[in-house]
Amino acid sequence: MTTRRKKIYEGKAKILYEGPEPGTLIQYFKDDATAFNGEKKAQLEGKGVINNRISEYVMTRLNGIGVQNHFIRRLNLREQLIKEVEIIPLEVVVRNIAAGSIATRLGLPEGQALPRSIIEFYYKDDKLNDPMVSEEHITAFNWAATQEIDDMMATALRVNDYLSGLFSGVGITLVDFKIEFGRIYEGDFSRIILADEISPDSCRLWDSLTNEKLDKDRFRRDLGNVIESYTEVARRLGIMKEMPTVIQGGVH
Ligand code: UDP
Repeated sequence: MTTRRKKIYEGKAKILYEGPEPGTLIQYFKDDATAFNGEKKAQLEGKGVINNRISEYVMTRLNGIGVQNHFIRRLNLREQLIKEVEIIPLEVVVRNIAAGSIATRLGLPEGQALPRSIIEFYYKDDKLNDPMVSEEHITAFNWAATQEIDDMMATALRVNDYLSGLFSGVGITLVDFKIEFGRIYEGDFSRIILADEISPDSCRLWDSLTNEKLDKDRFRRDLGNVIESYTEVARRLGIMKEMPTVIQGGVH
């Protein structure tokens, strides 16, 4: 179905194919799960289907509050039509609660609320293990302009505010998340829009009552029930209605 299309790029969890018209691409969500820079690998049956659906939902809601992003429409269980962008080689992480690398780096207990939401930038380079970088590095190496950094930070905080509310409304705490941005050129000008995906692969999501992890840490830390937890996130967001067969397998 998708194999005849020209592949533009293959990443760890997604494939980008040529789109039906100029300026578009098709984003295909695989079932592959990776962690620790690809050292740990598995196939989680149905993950791509769930992440396609969750990312569609989140991007659509963000578009509704004026956060422009690359999502155009979902095509099928595993694919969505997106705008082609020039990806900025940065991972923008927003944190509300200490977990993962900030907990290790700064010696903070996991679960400790941060004094305020904190934004971090990481340079996207697997060979270097995505090192954390500062605005100085970003502008010096021309990865993004100062204005673009300001735009990314403002958008990241809007996304954080909106998603924190969205998830807290369904009993989930948004601990942290990673987003990526891309440039769209319009004549001599370019602007920055949200790209990539927003899903339990790229967020830390904890049950608000029990602090149970409902995200990729279940895979990273071998906690089990990965797909069940992703499905629970989708179910709470109210987007599970047509998906139950996925979990029994067989949907590709
Ligand atoms: N994250 C991601 N992709 C990455 C690195 C991090 O989506 O390559 C997400 C991760 O799921 C978490 C947030 O960014 O929600 C912060 O991750 P952290 O820096 O704590 O890294 P990790 O614990 O994954 O090493």
